Amino acid sequence: MLFREVAFEWLYRKSDKGSRSLSRDEIGDFKAETNSSTSLIQQQGIWVPKGFSGAVSVTTTVPSGRQGRLSYEDVLTDGYVQYSFQATNEKHNDGLRRANKYSIPLIYFRGIAVGHYDAYFPVYVDEIRETDRKALLDLSGGAQRMGRVDVGFQETTVSVGPRYGEQLVRTRLHQRAFRSTVMLAYKSRCAICALGHGRLLDAAHILRDSHGGSPEVRNGLALCKIHHSAYDANILGVDPDYRIHIRSDILQEVDGPMLRHGLQERDGEVLRVVPKAENLRPNKTSLATRFEEFTIAG
Ligand SMILES: [Zn+2]
Repeated sequence: MLFREVAFEWLYRKSDKGSRSLSRDEIGDFKAETNSSTSLIQQQGIWVPKGFSGAVSVTTTVPSGRQGRLSYEDVLTDGYVQYSFQATNEKHNDGLRRANKYSIPLIYFRGIAVGHYDAYFPVYVDEIRETDRKALLDLSGGAQRMGRVDVGFQETTVSVGPRYGEQLVRTRLHQRAFRSTVMLAYKSRCAICALGHGRLLDAAHILRDSHGGSPEVRNGLALCKIHHSAYDANILGVDPDYRIHIRSDILQEVDGPMLRHGLQERDGEVLRVVPKAENLRPNKTSLATRFEEFTIAG
């Protein structure tokens, strides 16, 4: 198999089909797990390994002071990101120019917290803007596009789109970044019941998008599917002191174990899981605004 195919296949599995972010250490496992002599990532920026014509990956990082507050300045519209050329290393920039010229698919590691990345692939360099020294990256999965895979300087045409395209089309960039940062902050556990199965967890908004809720960690809660739905339906509320409230009529109902353990017995408890770092915890003003809605509904 060709390097990029192996890389995409491996990333697809490692990230649970693109549903979770990867730490730098996990990305480093690539070499050992595939017996490869080439790694997928370098410290930052454009990575053009020796013997490759096109870049294998581009990486952006989150400055340590910006934890939990993602910047979306690089995002043009959903599915497109602009990436600035490196100031000093023209050889690396050439790796992007060639990826553009020959439609070579690459990996975009988007930093979402220090040492943690969302991997987007296959990504194509749609356009090179030489005047402002920027590359336009297409993150939409390149669905029906025929890409070329370079083996040294020999190009081989392969189709890489549809299979992996699914993960990218399904989750938009903002949503994916929001989910990844919330999951990281809550260590992939439900804030209410501490359930720890990634596939059963959502990143819930405290204030909804339509209410000016921003996609930052402090406007989020990691919740399992049941608690997310209950929160959205105002069956369950969380007050600014992180205390859980169950709507009074629900408390009176008699039903099976899900109602009893899942909801009724959670009434009056405080959140079981909140981020360790103060600046990643739910915003109290947002919780208060949202809790008002719950009280009115009850
Ligand atoms: Zn839960």
